[in-house]
Amino acid sequence: TERTLILVKPDGVKRGLTGQIIARIEAKGYTIAELKQVTATREVLAQHYAEHEGKPFYEPLVEFMLSGPVVAIVAEGHNVITGFRSLAGTTDPTTAAPGTIRGDLGRDWGLKVQQNLVHGSDSEESAAREIGIWFGN
Ligand code: ATP
Repeated sequence: TERTLILVKPDGVKRGLTGQIIARIEAKGYTIAELKQVTATREVLAQHYAEHEGKPFYEPLVEFMLSGPVVAIVAEGHNVITGFRSLAGTTDPTTAAPGTIRGDLGRDWGLKVQQNLVHGSDSEESAAREIGIWFGN
């Protein structure tokens, strides 16, 4: 079955939203295959966000992701990659649709990086790559 890499970002962990986010993943019918709380390193983030290197939000994004622990999750289920991205909502939490994780629980804090609570892989290739980065092969 399909797998995706989900991160509860440091804002989600600090605000005590990990349980609610996991509950939404489970309520949708996906299975939690792996789960751990870890503090990221610059090395891991450089790999995870390689496609964004050089963009204006890259450094603030890395600093934000180092600001506290994250919860890394491998979720499983048919079409889970698309399904979780739909559950998460669009990148900007101000306009993410109500009913989504970002739309219901997130907002703009006026910072240089979107603190948008979660990450979800965007393709099968990204999922395989990101699961390797966070959980090893
Ligand atoms: P989506 O692909 O659903 O838009 P994502 O989380 O995959 O969401 P990316 O485009 O991969 O978004 O960007 C990675 C992260 O960088 C975002 O989740 C957000 O935290 C931050 N980010 C992205 N674009 C911006 C931006 N224009 N300004 C500030 N932060 C941003």
